[in-house]
Amino acid sequence: MQPLATSVPVAVIGAGAMGSGIAQVAGQAGHQVFLLDQREGAAEAGRQSIANILQRRVDKGKMEQADLDALLDRIKPVNELKELAEAGLVIEAIVEDLDIKRSLLADLEALCGDNTILATNTSSISVTALSAEMQHPERLVGMHFFNPAPLMALVEVIKGLATSDDVAKCVYATAGQWGKKPVTATSTPGFIVNRVARPFYAESLRLLQEQTTDSATLDAIVREAGGFRMGPFELTDLIGHDVNYAVTTSVFNSYYQDTRFLPSLVQKELVEAGRLGRKNGQGFYSYT
Ligand code: NAD
Repeated sequence: MQPLATSVPVAVIGAGAMGSGIAQVAGQAGHQVFLLDQREGAAEAGRQSIANILQRRVDKGKMEQADLDALLDRIKPVNELKELAEAGLVIEAIVEDLDIKRSLLADLEALCGDNTILATNTSSISVTALSAEMQHPERLVGMHFFNPAPLMALVEVIKGLATSDDVAKCVYATAGQWGKKPVTATSTPGFIVNRVARPFYAESLRLLQEQTTDSATLDAIVREAGGFRMGPFELTDLIGHDVNYAVTTSVFNSYYQDTRFLPSLVQKELVEAGRLGRKNGQGFYSYT
């Protein structure tokens, strides 16, 4: 199966941590990218954050200014859904909430042509459940990037029960064309990585709750002695505690409240306090 031609525009909905990174990846692969967010100014801010990150590469001589300018020309912040109509692939990276994602997918089906592929970057919600109310559920596929999307190679391509083989194969080939390492997964809660990662976060949070050690010590041990790139608290600060907590809750509920996946009270408290991690300057650590 051929990847999506680079002449076909891509739309990314949600210009937060993931959406901006995915827009960068699609833009660097040569697509025109429409970037939309419901929060006023967020799509422009997403494009600006791409510019800021890559300008540092230009300043260090690792990227040509002309390539950055061309990339930024290809990424177009838009304010209304109807401006995405000509996209051949729409990737949603909005809040991790079944009903809100379903409602967006319904709006997209009413807008987009029959051949447009709709992809979800959900970390944990069943692709089958997301597609259940769609008129054409065969066109929905999981395209799950990792954070930060421009740097992390892995993309999980997730087939729901109704996802067509051709759609999954096209997205798999497209992820490869974009320089990623795609793997296929079925639509089990948390798919592959977020399933395997649950105990990593959960046990670390339990150790913290039991006051066995503090976050900085545990992160340092996991990094320096364990050889991980990041410790669990640094990583969840990067992911966003709202997102990580929503993912844990989703996996927990999907497995009929299996206590192995019990969400952490420590993380719940961070979310309630609005300490979401790097994205707003305070999580386990301070970033201001
Ligand atoms: P985020 O909070 O950084 O960004 C989400 C953005 O979506 C916000 O800017 C918000 O304004 C916007 N939004 C919410 N509802 C919308 C709607 N109906 N229409 C348009 N925009 C809307 O979240 P994120 O970390 O980028 O996560 C987004 C998705 O990606 C979630 O499904 C999450 O599970 C998944 N994901 C997150 C990570 C991670 O490490 N953070 C990794 C992989 C996948």
